[in-house]
Amino acid sequence: MNNTKYVFVTGGVTSSLGKGIIAASLAKLLQERGYSVTIQKLDPYINIDPGTLNPYEHGECYVTDDGAETDLDLGHYERFLNIPTSQANNVTTGRIYQSVIDKERRGEFLGKTVQVIPHITDEIKNRIQILGNTGNYDIVITEIGGTVGDIESLPYVEAVRQLEWDLGENNTIVIHLTLVPYLAAAGELKTKPTQHSVKMLMQSGVSPDILVCRSENEISDDIKRKLALFCNVKQKDVIQSLDAETIYDVPNLMLDEGLDSVVLEKLKLSDVNPPKMDKWNNFLSKHKNPKEFVEIGLIGKYVELHDSYKSITEAFIHAGSTHETKVNVRWIHSEELNPETIETELQGLNGILVAPGFGDRGIEGKIAAVQYARENNIPFLGICLGMQMAVIEFARNVLGLKDATSTEMNPETANPVINLMDEQKDITDKGGTMRLGAWDCEISTDSKVYEAYQNTLISERHRHRYEFNNDYKAQIEAAGMIATGVNPKTGLVEIVELPNHPWFVGVQYHPEYKSTVLTPHPLFVNFIKAALEQSKK
Ligand code: GLN
Repeated sequence: MNNTKYVFVTGGVTSSLGKGIIAASLAKLLQERGYSVTIQKLDPYINIDPGTLNPYEHGECYVTDDGAETDLDLGHYERFLNIPTSQANNVTTGRIYQSVIDKERRGEFLGKTVQVIPHITDEIKNRIQILGNTGNYDIVITEIGGTVGDIESLPYVEAVRQLEWDLGENNTIVIHLTLVPYLAAAGELKTKPTQHSVKMLMQSGVSPDILVCRSENEISDDIKRKLALFCNVKQKDVIQSLDAETIYDVPNLMLDEGLDSVVLEKLKLSDVNPPKMDKWNNFLSKHKNPKEFVEIGLIGKYVELHDSYKSITEAFIHAGSTHETKVNVRWIHSEELNPETIETELQGLNGILVAPGFGDRGIEGKIAAVQYARENNIPFLGICLGMQMAVIEFARNVLGLKDATSTEMNPETANPVINLMDEQKDITDKGGTMRLGAWDCEISTDSKVYEAYQNTLISERHRHRYEFNNDYKAQIEAAGMIATGVNPKTGLVEIVELPNHPWFVGVQYHPEYKSTVLTPHPLFVNFIKAALEQSKK
């Protein structure tokens, strides 16, 4: 039996209130007080994981070291806490049902009728306690996706109710995040939506211990008293969460409001050590007071929804802060790039990043962007599909293999410089079957990547089915594009570079997933450094 405490975060009134950021901010404060904390997200949808979801539906799919394809909130958790998450940190209804149904098929329910209560709720409770049972955490924060009152959230709320009962007083608390809207016509903040949403939660047998109220305006003591009275909490347990200039301000805002102290008091944990926020604040002050400016073009096909590239834009913020530099992202739709538009679209950029992606929509634009970066000596970072496009561009325009492409785009091509990995050839299922998670890569010392990592063996996260075709390696290297990183066991090319270019790096893996506030990713740091140098030319 260990003494892990559980904090549940539910959402009311509307979605998109930023439960993930509140959870991550609270976790940060508790961590900097010396507690070991992790955060888990329970998603009520039926997909097994977001890996099969279109980014327009759900934003970026984040990938963990152990190869889980997860909600983008896990990216926030890692960026805030600087510790890795895993398969256990993101669970969907699909996964819950799948394991219950698998057990049923194995006969594990011994002839019983399998039902939402107790079987689904038991499985949810197990999934919540898996992290606590590792013994690695003093506190597990579990964020329940969706909004209280949704049909699909009901089993989760019931599981929380039961766990509160199972684990007893002072071991669990519920934080309800809600919206307190300002009605301009009335000139007032309105508490009724919160009252209704708390009532809804209480109908399911769960009373919030703390209300975190998102609001555009200061919540007066009067309003707090009203919220407290009608929602059955103490006035000091009503915490306001005003719109912030950056998500990285939220831990300090929550500290000022005393959220961490209230949580510790309710869990009967000591609050004597104040959070040590100096490193965090050092990052923040450099982020907020930049001395330099660079503009990076982000070439992708989902640019209408910036959340599709969340980890990349956050990695720019971390790397920018390192150089006290504001990194402005120019969002460029790959479908809009063609020989006529390229000059106007890309002109003036200090760096070009070609983003990950799937399928052939927009790839000619990506290839054109690579060519522009290569020929105009603009610092270039290609990630996953972006690296593959760099190889294709080089094969076409330097080696003269005009029909070079990836077999993802044309399975019949005569020059498949990128082709399907052998291990993928017999796979037909789409979900969870890519080359996922952390793999090693050996780096040659004479390279831009070595300058960045200062290490010859690295481990980075992956999410792909196609790879650099080693049949073309000798030819490509002889023409000047060098494979500076390979998987030591399989020889799979992980990194390509152009030594005759100021900074041109393509990586098969996703460095963006491992960039955090306190450990900005070295490749992003050096990419921004190269962009800064470019800006001074
Ligand atoms: N579509 C490419 C592949 O599967 C690249 C994937 C990606 O960019 N994540 O290999």
